[in-house]
Amino acid sequence: MAVQQVPTWLEPVWEQWRAAYREGRLPHAVLVTGPSGIGKRWLVEAFVRGVQCHAPTAQGLPCDECPSCKQYVSYRQLEKKSHPDIDWLTIARYSIGIGDIRDQIIRRLTLKANYGRMRLLVIEPAERMTRAASNALLKSLEEPPPDTMLFLISHQPGRLLATIRSRCQRYALPEPNPEQGRAWLAGFMTPEQAEDALKAGDGMPMRALKMQQDNQVDFRNTFEQSLCDVLEGTQSETAFASTWNVTPAQSKGKTRSGSEEPQEEISMDLRLVWMIDRAVAEIRKKVTEKDSMQNVRATLNAYQELLDIRAREASIPASQLNLEAACLALTGTSLGVD
Ligand SMILES: [Zn+2]
Repeated sequence: MAVQQVPTWLEPVWEQWRAAYREGRLPHAVLVTGPSGIGKRWLVEAFVRGVQCHAPTAQGLPCDECPSCKQYVSYRQLEKKSHPDIDWLTIARYSIGIGDIRDQIIRRLTLKANYGRMRLLVIEPAERMTRAASNALLKSLEEPPPDTMLFLISHQPGRLLATIRSRCQRYALPEPNPEQGRAWLAGFMTPEQAEDALKAGDGMPMRALKMQQDNQVDFRNTFEQSLCDVLEGTQSETAFASTWNVTPAQSKGKTRSGSEEPQEEISMDLRLVWMIDRAVAEIRKKVTEKDSMQNVRATLNAYQELLDIRAREASIPASQLNLEAACLALTGTSLGVD
């Protein structure tokens, strides 16, 4: 990760943290929140690396060249602990248990910093901590050892224990405007690609970049357009379900074997997640615009139904039926076309 500068929308939080670091008044625990792809991980990763870096830039970003930076990168590639003084607890399974918190956070909190600076610990996504894990962590939050800082990253902070939230200083990252998103993405792709990627990534630049790297941009934008057609009544739910009940490789007339690997498989689950995202966006819109309680409740029902459909698909796959059911759930609420 070559870091040139801090993305403009993250600058206010960045400057606050850097000033607190220089003045030795960093909080012991912070909770970083915001929608998926807004740059929570970017911010925390750049900051913890910058603190450990031997020759940071004027802005406090890591140099990428010093032993600390090199060590961090090589550790990340090995998917081990990220750095002697940076512990990054992230877990692919659904929950972070009490054992994970004891081994990877509490035990490490008591160690002295190897490089004599700070010990920095990150839990991501923090909402995956079980109740027992959260309670174990609470004790550390009450009496934090000196020269340590704990970062909790979460896009669903409402699922954290209230006692955890209240012991952390909270930073809700501000959403970038499209201009800021485009400017940041320009470092990685052409302006046209950035435009498409930003659309596919729901306006979130880091999510847009990830989708571009995973080759998902065109697929998602076509999928969304098709979903729009259904919501506007120009395409039937059945037609939608039959169109999207195919793997990306099939839809492009390619085989999945051979040396040229087609784009990463876009699972049926991800398609259902996108439909859930759609319902969430609609709920946010209705709440912001102070739509009637009845309309908000109808969309909440659709959201709940979509969650059920997703769970059903995960246990007994019946993709075409489920896609159609998901469509019916969305159209049943006059989503997007009212
Ligand atoms: Zn460095």
